[in-house]
Amino acid sequence: MVETSPTIGVLAIQGDYDAHARRLEESGARAVLVRKPEQLDSLDGIVIPGGESSTMLKFLERDGFLEKLTEFVRVKPSFGTCAGAILLAKNVENPAQKSLAAIDMTVKRNAYGRQIDSHIHEVTSKLSGGPLEMVFIRAPKISATGAGVDVLAEDGDEPVLVRQGKTMAATFHPELSEDKRVHEEFVRMVREHL
Ligand code: GLN
Repeated sequence: MVETSPTIGVLAIQGDYDAHARRLEESGARAVLVRKPEQLDSLDGIVIPGGESSTMLKFLERDGFLEKLTEFVRVKPSFGTCAGAILLAKNVENPAQKSLAAIDMTVKRNAYGRQIDSHIHEVTSKLSGGPLEMVFIRAPKISATGAGVDVLAEDGDEPVLVRQGKTMAATFHPELSEDKRVHEEFVRMVREHL
């Protein structure tokens, strides 16, 4: 059977969007870099990359982009990594800021302090195929999750990969590891939602 190639956008305001686009293409999707709100109309799903969530928010607050993206993630699959996870969270702390409120969770920004602001861990997850390498860069911590949120991986007792229905978020950067399983999982979620 030939599998369909969904069209998945990568929000390309700043951050490591090119690495996400490559991983999506390697996982069987067509990747489109998204810089304008009207591009959302032709997408089956979206990835919101790492970077600086407050900077991305400033950009999104122009031209009705934030409203349109909020509506998009309400109806279509989305995957946020690091700053993207912060944007998808319902509640943001340290400091509080606006968000797309697509996942019922509370996220604390820059939660690891300066000494360990970047680290790599091998973590067991619900994805098959053994432990996942996880690259954390000035990562947020998921401090609370609602009942509808499925925790797919925990580092110690902190959730680091979560899913609520068609929305997934990671506090690490799967696009920086060779392992494609997290992107493959998202492409599968988008296909199921077509
Ligand atoms: N510290 C950033 C923020 O608060 C996230 C860091 C990242 O995406 N690597 O938005």
